[in-house]
Amino acid sequence: MDTNINTFEQLYDICLSLNKKIYEIAQEKMAQEADTTVEQVRAFANRSLFAMKEAIDSGMQSKELSLSGMCGQDCYKMHRRYEKESAMFGDLFQNIVMYALATSEENIRMGTIVACPTAGSCGILPSVLIAVSRKYNYSEKDQLDALITAGEIGRIISVKVALAGAVAGCQAECGVASAMSAAALCQLRGGTVSQILNASALALKNLLGLSCDPVAGLVEVPCVKRNPFLAVHSVTAVELALSGVESKIPIDEVVDAMAQTGALMSPMLKESSKAGLATTKTGLAIKNRVFGN
Ligand code: SF4
Repeated sequence: MDTNINTFEQLYDICLSLNKKIYEIAQEKMAQEADTTVEQVRAFANRSLFAMKEAIDSGMQSKELSLSGMCGQDCYKMHRRYEKESAMFGDLFQNIVMYALATSEENIRMGTIVACPTAGSCGILPSVLIAVSRKYNYSEKDQLDALITAGEIGRIISVKVALAGAVAGCQAECGVASAMSAAALCQLRGGTVSQILNASALALKNLLGLSCDPVAGLVEVPCVKRNPFLAVHSVTAVELALSGVESKIPIDEVVDAMAQTGALMSPMLKESSKAGLATTKTGLAIKNRVFGN
């Protein structure tokens, strides 16, 4: 197999010509490049899946604050409320939001998480993948198929744009995580290759221009709470794509637009903490409290 797949158009064509799903192409490609077997690739992915579940389960039990004291108890607060009353949109919504917070809070406590694609965006994909899998009893095979699909989406985006807030803003971190989450969920729900790519495009294009302005230069505010928001965002993209709604702009062009937007974005809004939320009155007061003047 030609392993030179650098665009979604190439991925789509190869899936179509070989009548294979994205995860099948991705795992074969990875095995070929690493001179190993598909089973080994899946075993490696399974370790990530396991770590994602561990981060959720451990984050759900903790209310320990981060060293800065800014974050760490949001999942606990939601958990406490849901013991008394359910979320308006039901238990699946409830779990997606809590799992995303649980994972992100594990990250700010320096716990073990899976960067997907980055640590700041680590709660988005696992929350959706695992909450939906637990709700509908998807097998481990189904979950791995979904995870490998998501990985291929992130990989191809990263060919054109470095997945870092310092390079292209949060669209390249939480935005890409949401696109990966949409791909995983769409695969899990039986979407076609075209629907998976549309779901990713829909998620990503509605997050273009998202700035990176973390308070006190720490990956906490707005990062932690941004994860549950964009997890739910990815579910919306999948509901649209599975209904046949298409992104008018193909995903390759959405990625081009993201790269261009990132290049045009002021460095003040790319992880420098020199503008936006970081330099609000409260943001600066927090910085002074944490680091002093
Ligand atoms: S705001 Fe910046 S630091 Fe926080 S998750 Fe987004 S890209 Fe990462």
